[in-house]
Amino acid sequence: MEPITLKSDVLVIGGGIAGTYAAIKAAENGAGVVQVDKGRVGKSGCSAFAAGVMFVYIPGEDDLDDWFAAEVRHRGYLVQQDRLQSYFQRIYDIFREMECFGVRFLRTPDGRLERDKGRGRFPLIKFPGLQLMEVMAKTAAARGVRQVNRVMVTDLLVHDRKVAGAMGFEVRTGQLHIFEARATVLATGSTQYKGLSPGHRDCTGDGYAMAYRAGAVLSGADANDIAYNAFPARYDIGPGMNMFVGQGGRLVNSRGERFMPKYHPLAERAPLNTLAQAMALEAMQDHAPIYMDMTHFTPQQVAEMKVVLPLVMEMYEKAGIISRDKFVKPIEWMITAPYGRAGLRTGKDQETSLEGLYACGEAAAMQSFASGLPACAASGAAAGTAAAQFASHHPGDIPVDQTRLKDLQHFALAPLHRKTGPEPDHLILSLLETLVPCDVLVIRHRERLKMALAAVEDLKDTCAPYLAAYDPHYLKTVHESLNMLFTAECQLRSALFREESRMAMREDFPFTDNDNWLQWINVQAENGRMALTKEKVPIEDYKLRPERGKMLHRTWETAQKLGLVTIRDGTLTWNAGLTQRQ
Ligand SMILES: Cc1cc2nc3c(=O)[nH]c(=O)nc-3n(C[C@H](O)[C@H](O)[C@H](O)COP(=O)(O)OP(=O)(O)OC[C@H]3O[C@@H](n4cnc5c(N)ncnc54)[C@H](O)[C@@H]3O)c2cc1C
Repeated sequence: MEPITLKSDVLVIGGGIAGTYAAIKAAENGAGVVQVDKGRVGKSGCSAFAAGVMFVYIPGEDDLDDWFAAEVRHRGYLVQQDRLQSYFQRIYDIFREMECFGVRFLRTPDGRLERDKGRGRFPLIKFPGLQLMEVMAKTAAARGVRQVNRVMVTDLLVHDRKVAGAMGFEVRTGQLHIFEARATVLATGSTQYKGLSPGHRDCTGDGYAMAYRAGAVLSGADANDIAYNAFPARYDIGPGMNMFVGQGGRLVNSRGERFMPKYHPLAERAPLNTLAQAMALEAMQDHAPIYMDMTHFTPQQVAEMKVVLPLVMEMYEKAGIISRDKFVKPIEWMITAPYGRAGLRTGKDQETSLEGLYACGEAAAMQSFASGLPACAASGAAAGTAAAQFASHHPGDIPVDQTRLKDLQHFALAPLHRKTGPEPDHLILSLLETLVPCDVLVIRHRERLKMALAAVEDLKDTCAPYLAAYDPHYLKTVHESLNMLFTAECQLRSALFREESRMAMREDFPFTDNDNWLQWINVQAENGRMALTKEKVPIEDYKLRPERGKMLHRTWETAQKLGLVTIRDGTLTWNAGLTQRQ
């Protein structure tokens, strides 16, 4: 089959909120836009399955300085503060624009936004599930965006560090597609390694791997300020944590004790990384399994949650966990697989280190502040606008390196031509077994990170090159597993590189080190190997600066107070009675 070639001013890869916003804005700025998704625009990725809530700063109601400071602190001062500032300036308008597109948010009878408690101190707004991305996808189509579904992009077309589009294959027929474009927006999301909890399994770090191969700089894979979520352990049901904890859901351990108040003043409404750390420490005290108890919710609360989380609540009902608008039993709860976020380093217009390539949403590095629906939307809007402008300044032929294109086609289809070989599921399960144990990435230690990295290296040598695909659908899974393997390597190497506890906890470096580690960790391909470098956070240019020096990480401080660890002269030892970690 001859490849299908599609030409456009702007190519958007990814059909989540970031990609769809980018497509809308690029089209509004006069560009001819092609948007490609390996699932269906608006129906796959995290955005489509998100939990019906958003944190939106509302001018006149909220205190901007308070929100800003909380966000900077929460992200360990590793956020690009100028970007965060501009995000807060734009986000209310973006939310209003979404309403104009037709997205429904919950409002009180007198027209005010319904705001409720969620995770953290700030109120959230709510939207009835599913319709958000349906409206966004329709809005893009109405602006003339050509949406190409079920094509998995495998590589970027790059020549002399200039990106000229991408290529991929149709996941049911294997038909090759070549997308030639003057500007390309990468909006492929992040990954949770296809772990438990629904909604994210099309997100497999594809953008990170293809950008790395194209020579882009990735960044922030170590930090993971949103390191984990937490979901039912025995049911593939979710999401909804913000609503559950906001409504008063309690995490209890195997002894029936509610433990979160010991770890954080906001208890269950603590940030996700603190929740994961506390759950890990409870498990180490042999206090697992852990349960989410919502049996005290009133029927009215349950009925309201059905509006925001229709699919999730239906699944709970089918599983017999909700009956007659009451949760009838506590649900065993656990930390999900880790978020792998090895995003592209971006500047103020979401431009990357490669000419003509923009990244937004969770495809961009963590420090650019693109996590959660509103921030992903805002970064998508910026990327789409900038990409359209770039395209308009670069008319004429799109330079495609035909020799490299042939190599990329060969790489894309090679697993289909192998008659035998391991299945990608084997690699994915091995990866999950390596990454999920909480003493790998939640409570980190050099030796355990090295062991996990060795397991990843082993999979790279003994499994990855031989993966075989029976059909184009399996071919998709092969590429996904390879991309997750890449992301895992990036994440583990970056975690090893950061020798301090900041958002994540290092057992061998329990202090936050503001003298030496106000640094981003960048990753780039260099002579066939993964090179890691530090980039100083320009903290002196920023509005908020942390105290200099070293201070004990908050959760380690709590662990010490609880008598779980002793920290003396910078060295941490576990006290007797805990599960041995090394
Ligand atoms: C379970 C869950 C619940 C959440 N709930 C909320 C919430 O209630 N509120 C909130 O603010 N945030 C929530 N978040 C976070 C939020 O959903 C994400 O930050 C946001 O949706 C990310 O948007 P995105 O566009 O960057 O990526 P995604 O929405 O993940 O979209 C990425 C898209 O790229 C496509 N893609 C990937 N690789 C390729 C490829 N190789 N070729 C072609 N297409 C590709 C995927 O199919 C997907 O459609 C939640 C996250 C999860 C996982």
